[in-house]
Order: sequence, then C-alpha cells, then structure tokens
Amino acid sequence: MTGRTASIEAPCACGSTAVRQVNQFVLNDELWWDSEFSCEACGRYMCEHAGPGAAPDGVREALLAAHGPVRLRPAGPLPSAVAAMKVFREVSAASLSRARELVEELRRDGLVGTAAEMELLASRLTRRGVPVEVGR
Ligand SMILES: [Zn+2]
Repeated sequence: MTGRTASIEAPCACGSTAVRQVNQFVLNDELWWDSEFSCEACGRYMCEHAGPGAAPDGVREALLAAHGPVRLRPAGPLPSAVAAMKVFREVSAASLSRARELVEELRRDGLVGTAAEMELLASRLTRRGVPVEVGR
C-alpha cells in the first residue's frame, strides 16, 4: 500500500506546527479518503474526515507531491471505447464527451493520477474487459 498516504504541516491552535495525515485508498470498490490532525505539542487529535468520494485538491496535491503521479496505460489495443467510457462515467461521473476525451487520453499518453485513483480505474477497467496496467 505505497503511495496512499501523505503528511501535511498544519498550524495548531496551541501555536505549534501539527501534522495532518491524509490517506486515499480503495474500499469496497470505491475511492475513499481520510484526514487526521495531530499535534505533538499539545496532544490535540482529530479525525477530520473519513468517507467515500473524490479527495479534495489539497489532499491529492499532497499525495502527488509525496509520491509522484501514477500512470495508467492500455496493456494492449483497447477492445472497445464504449466499455472504457462506461467506466469513466461511473467512476468520475464524466459527461459523455468528457468520457470520450478520457478514453482518447488513455490511448494516447495514458491517464495520470494518484495511486489509489489509478488503482480503482484499473480494477474497474479490467473487470469490463479493458486491459490496462499501472506504472510510472
Ligand atoms: Zn497543538
């Protein structure tokens, strides 16, 4: 489970610098993220968020900065653009035209995102018969 957690410095009410630990992962075939705030100086601890859904930009940026992006590529010729488009519409609620663009991007350069995002896409695409591989 590498590439799914990152630490962000955050100011604490006590005046010290605390740590926000963010995680993004796949659970029950859905993308989840959580965020925990902890301050060593005053002992303040909070679970700020834990639940399904797309991670906010700050969380994604921290994960991408800590681990670099992960790239999803076709593992062979795409058998059907329709199957791949269905997955994009399910996973990211993409419009028809956006789903078509994503299939084109996948074909051309591959898609880039966080490890958990690409892991979810890879498992959904594979299940629909679209061969893909996750790499750098
Ligand atoms: Zn504190």
